[in-house]
Amino acid sequence: RPVVLALQFTPVQRAGQVVRVIVEGREITGQVEAVREAHLARAALEALLENVQDGIVACDAEGNLTVFNRMSREMHGLDRAEIDPSQWSRYYDLFEVDGVTPLPQERVPLYRALRGELVQGAEMVIAPRGLARRTVVASGGPLTGPGGQALGAVVAMHDITDRQHAEERLRHEALHDRLTGLPNRSLLHSLLEKTMQRFEREPNHPYAVMFLDLDDFKNVNDVYGHLTGDRLLLETAARLKDAVRKTDTVARLGGDEFAVLLDAPCDEVNALRVAERLQRAMARPFRLQRDEVRVSTSIGLANARRAYTRTEEPLRDADTAMYVAKRRGKNRTVLFEQSMHDQAQERVDTERQLRDALRDGQFRLHYQPIMELAPGRCVGFEALVRWQHPARGLLGPGAFLEVAERTGLIVPMGAWVLREASRQLLEWQADPQLSHLLVSVNLSGQQLQVEAGGEHDLLAMTFPEGLHLEITETSLVDTPEAMRTMRALHRRGVPLMLDDFGTGFASLAAAQRFPVDTLKIDRSFVAPLPGDGDDRHSAIVASVVTLARHMSMRVVAEGIETPEQARAVQDLGCRFAQGFLFARPADAEVAAAFARAHA
Ligand code: C2E
Ligand code: CA
Ligand code: CA
Repeated sequence: RPVVLALQFTPVQRAGQVVRVIVEGREITGQVEAVREAHLARAALEALLENVQDGIVACDAEGNLTVFNRMSREMHGLDRAEIDPSQWSRYYDLFEVDGVTPLPQERVPLYRALRGELVQGAEMVIAPRGLARRTVVASGGPLTGPGGQALGAVVAMHDITDRQHAEERLRHEALHDRLTGLPNRSLLHSLLEKTMQRFEREPNHPYAVMFLDLDDFKNVNDVYGHLTGDRLLLETAARLKDAVRKTDTVARLGGDEFAVLLDAPCDEVNALRVAERLQRAMARPFRLQRDEVRVSTSIGLANARRAYTRTEEPLRDADTAMYVAKRRGKNRTVLFEQSMHDQAQERVDTERQLRDALRDGQFRLHYQPIMELAPGRCVGFEALVRWQHPARGLLGPGAFLEVAERTGLIVPMGAWVLREASRQLLEWQADPQLSHLLVSVNLSGQQLQVEAGGEHDLLAMTFPEGLHLEITETSLVDTPEAMRTMRALHRRGVPLMLDDFGTGFASLAAAQRFPVDTLKIDRSFVAPLPGDGDDRHSAIVASVVTLARHMSMRVVAEGIETPEQARAVQDLGCRFAQGFLFARPADAEVAAAFARAHA
């Protein structure tokens, strides 16, 4: 095995003459290998530094750069041979992680490390002039010799730009509506929060919040399908954004619900003007497939108030005002007033109590006779729901039906009414004196729309013979599903009555389109009878009776209160009637006695 020797030659002189040379040999094989290994290690380290995917920078104790590997040159946009390393710092800028605040020298990771600090997870933005900026996370620390003396510092930087983009995308998605790209509810809340804080500092700089809901949007989805419905929502988003200023925010809260935050100084007059503009923008017809469709909008408006402390409050009030707009007939803007809040609170209470009522069986049925006029005979009853309220006593539908409709509680409640009326009818039918009676039950449009197989699917129920269903035309035209259910009920032989006839928009058309057996003429036509010279109402009743006869339908006149009215409708050809004149709605026992007395 070869060895490496270090030879030392020492000449020995005598009188100026070299007489001998002493050669000393020392084996240094180990040392030479150590040096070679050191070289190798250094080369390996350099290769590693050049190829590693993180940026590595190091400097000596004086702050002179000793390492600036390929990745860090790339990160800083310095990966070009022509750039003189002493000029490097002129080719990029460093920012805080927000991307805008310049990073001061003392916060640059390598300087911090050089000061002896252990740097961990420091995020910053490197912005090479003219190149894409990167976000990096830097870690490093001081370099010290074996005796603790400062040798310099080293820092490694990891590129997290992609991760940050992904995070930004996620953040964007979390704060925006997927379909329209508009801010969503949670972003609206945080924007509103800033606005409210500003209003607190500058009370003469008010804001306003609007809730918008498209009227009858469900029809569009039902008739044209969801894709077209989505296109309408996109177009709505665009129109709303166009109609407000850049500083205002249009948000989508879900479904066909939008909100607008008017941020720039905006008093009540201004806000109403903007609402008017939004209404106008929405009133233009939408092109859907081949059709032009008009969609109206209900808007609730809440103006800034000192009393508002949380973002939920103005939004809640705008929502409340929006509901009032719907109740007042849609297609309008309503400004929030405090009295609405109290009513809204009452509705919330009612909802809770209604749930208890369902659970605890607090509903009752009252029955109002339906009379055949000529002999004055009771042919049956209309079942009318009542609520035996634990505190407020016996309540009529006026006190709770609207809340039941709005919350969907009408569906289970209606199912109970149907079961109870059916049970009562079967009981009466077992009595020979009462077996001829019919019972009619009022249906809500929502009951016609329960999905097939659902818990309260009408088509899954069985009704005794003699049970009639009453439905108003306004709840019918709502959806194709309702039509389907109606037809299926009709095929099964369940008699249908068109209630409140004459109050809808297309009464005669509805009477022809729906498979109905009976028309119930609304009280409003009966009340003015007998006519006092102006015989418009008589003419309407007469023509309804004629129409019904042509279509072999029965007619019931509702709301007869006086003998004169009874005579008038009878003269006009109406065979059946209902009203306080004959009897008020009463419980089953009273009703049965009435039927026996008027058989
Ligand atoms: P409706 O179907 O038109 O029922 C007739 C309403 O007029 C009843 O009011 C009845 O008490 C009242 N009425 C009867 N005769 C006269 C009269 O001569 N003069 C006057 N001024 N009123 C008369 P009620 O019981 O308060 O019911 C109101 C509405 O609530 C009903 O109007 C119906 O639409 C709805 N409703 C009642 N029960 C139910 C139910 O079980 N389910 C559903 N979905 N709705 C119901
Ligand atoms: Ca009715
Ligand atoms: Ca009616």
